Amino acid sequence: MPRITKKTYPCVPLRGLSVLPGMIVHFDLNRAFSIQAVERAMLKDQRIFLLSQRNDSVEEPKEEELYTVGCVASIKQVIKLPNGFVRVLIEGEHRARLLELTVTELYTAVTKAFEMVVEEDHFKLTAMVRELRDQIAAYVVYSPHIGKSLEGQFQKMETVEGLLDCVAANFPLAQEEKQAMLEAEKMSERFAILTAFFARETQVLAIKKQLQDETKERVEKNQKEYVLREQMKYIQEELGEDEESDLEQFRKACEKLKAPAEVKQKIRKEIDRFGRMSSYSSESGVARGYIETLLEMPWNKTSKDNTDLDHAEQILEEDHYGLEKVKERMLEFLAVEFLISKKADRISPIICLVGPPGTGKTSIAKSVARALNRKYIRISLGGVRDEAEIRGHRRTYVGALPGRIATGLKNAGVRNPLMLLDEIDKMSSDYKGDTASALLEVLDGEQNNRFIDHYIEIPIDLSGVLFIATANSMSDIPRPLLDRMEIIEVTSYTENEKVHIAKEHLIRKQISRHGLTEKQLKITDKALELIIRSYTKEAGVRNLERKIGQICRKAARMILQEHKRSVRVTPENLEQFLGVERYSFDMANEQDDIGIVRGLAWTSVGGDTLQIEVNVMPGKGEITLTGQLGDVMKESAQAGLSYIRSIGESKKISADFFKKHDFHIHIPQGSVPKDGPSAGITMATALYSAITKHPVKASVAMTGEITLRGRVLPIGGLKEKILAAKTAGIKTVLVPLKNERDVGEISDEIKKGLKIVYVSTMEEVLKEALV
Ligand code: ADP
Repeated sequence: MPRITKKTYPCVPLRGLSVLPGMIVHFDLNRAFSIQAVERAMLKDQRIFLLSQRNDSVEEPKEEELYTVGCVASIKQVIKLPNGFVRVLIEGEHRARLLELTVTELYTAVTKAFEMVVEEDHFKLTAMVRELRDQIAAYVVYSPHIGKSLEGQFQKMETVEGLLDCVAANFPLAQEEKQAMLEAEKMSERFAILTAFFARETQVLAIKKQLQDETKERVEKNQKEYVLREQMKYIQEELGEDEESDLEQFRKACEKLKAPAEVKQKIRKEIDRFGRMSSYSSESGVARGYIETLLEMPWNKTSKDNTDLDHAEQILEEDHYGLEKVKERMLEFLAVEFLISKKADRISPIICLVGPPGTGKTSIAKSVARALNRKYIRISLGGVRDEAEIRGHRRTYVGALPGRIATGLKNAGVRNPLMLLDEIDKMSSDYKGDTASALLEVLDGEQNNRFIDHYIEIPIDLSGVLFIATANSMSDIPRPLLDRMEIIEVTSYTENEKVHIAKEHLIRKQISRHGLTEKQLKITDKALELIIRSYTKEAGVRNLERKIGQICRKAARMILQEHKRSVRVTPENLEQFLGVERYSFDMANEQDDIGIVRGLAWTSVGGDTLQIEVNVMPGKGEITLTGQLGDVMKESAQAGLSYIRSIGESKKISADFFKKHDFHIHIPQGSVPKDGPSAGITMATALYSAITKHPVKASVAMTGEITLRGRVLPIGGLKEKILAAKTAGIKTVLVPLKNERDVGEISDEIKKGLKIVYVSTMEEVLKEALV
């Protein structure tokens, strides 16, 4: 390569481009002076001096508007283009510095070539070259096509200078960087420019690649989902399962739905939201369940009531024996209901049937529903502790569901069913909220037309629902609920009533339920009485019905296996059907005894008698009570003892008797916890008898609360208690005078054969009870 100190060349100013030695490029020329320069060069040795403009927009650059370092290049090819342009192909040869520029019809430059200054020793150079190669290797990872074409060229480079220029020429350096490469005289400067370029570009490329990868991944996933879905559609079509999409079904169902505009609007919004979800996301599952629930709710659907009171009466009579009072109250309630049903702002009371299990509470509610032609829905509240069971869970919870009220309404399919709130007294509250107040909201006629279930969120109108509640004991119903309800008491059945119920209802029901006919199975009255007395012990008839069911099953087997035409159940063969007798009633004692008195108790399963025993022994005046007694009972024992001490003197009991003796009160048959004040007079009588060694009549039973001064206070559950006394074979029952009216209400059938004595003081009690 000729490197003469000073040389003159035709010069071409370049715009947006700097040419380096070793570079082969072509570009188009259209400025007259440039074309002239090329032509001049072609006439001589085909060499031109390429000098870049500092500012691309200048048409005719002056000397100071040009860089001072350029590249001498040889022209390889010239093509005249039709539009007057000239395309040249050149190869850069060596650097040269401008010394002098003359501008005529062309630019002519006097130049001086310059050599690179190499200060570094051999090792440093090798190190630089290796570093550069590493950087290039890192770069071409992201741009493989550059790498391939360069590999060969790099091998050929003999000098470091050549290598650096080759790198600068082949990589997309910015023009300023190329110009700087051109002007740098020192090896280290050129190296620095290149390493800066690679460091920057590699990083940019890495980030770009990452972005590309991510985009690609996303696109691929969508693509895959699309393809799969298309395939699924195809498969469904092939299988003939060309169903409408859920979305369309929902839309159609929503348009058909009878509901207020506000509700429909909300459902439509939910359906649109569902449509926008990916159908396989978990969110879409939740939304689907929600929409389905909303569509199933009976927003505006009602059934027509039968408002014929005679019809109602007939049905109640048909379904139930006895229960006169209950039926009467029920019919009165219905009459009022029919009368006010036309009023817009009506608020109907809530009926609550209270009584022992198996006394027909549920069954009456069912009959009322039948009589009114209403849908019947039973909601069991026993064991409900979480408010959410009534009011629903918010949808943000996994597996959230509507509460029992909303679910009940959904199952009913109409917005005016009869809803039985069963066992309202067995509901409790824990840390998860107040169940009673949630229920209060349900029952409150003032606000239940906009009841909010947390799951459903849209207010539900419960004002059309007829609520009937049931409970076993009034004392366990939360007070605020009790205030809202109208209580109808359902009491225990007498043995006679039970026989009637069995004969007129239960047997018939069980026979048909077991596929038999009335000709095939006969149960005699005596057998029924025996079942009631010896195989069941209950206030209602639930177990009785079960026992009859058991007999039906045995009978069915006999008819099929032993080919009997009919089965007759009598007291003699009853054991064949039901096994040995279960219960022997705790009968009255045979003999009058000291310190033993029979009391009467009320339990949630009916009445019972309890025998109270007292022992007096030498000691220091302590009192012991055993047999699972509650606090109230213990206190009334204390009161009884205090009363006897207070009358001690008049009864000739020595003053220090109470100091020198211990008293033990025991109530056997202690598996049932007993509490309440009604055994007060019984304990006091037993204590008195034990202290004075005066026997008590075995045929007497008693119930009543005692005061410190020996007055007798009234008690509850009389019917059950008197029934129990009668069953136990008692002849005389002592009842507080203040309970006289309650006794009046008890049917004569129950009182037959019993002497009822009203007492108001302990004196009277002792007079009647002691022998
Ligand atoms: P509860 O709800 O009070 O616990 P149910 O209503 O479940 O009691 O009654 C138990 C069974 O006894 C039912 O089959 C019911 O039909 C029947 N039953 C109860 N009382 C009567 C009655 N007075 N007349 C006819 N059947 C009755």
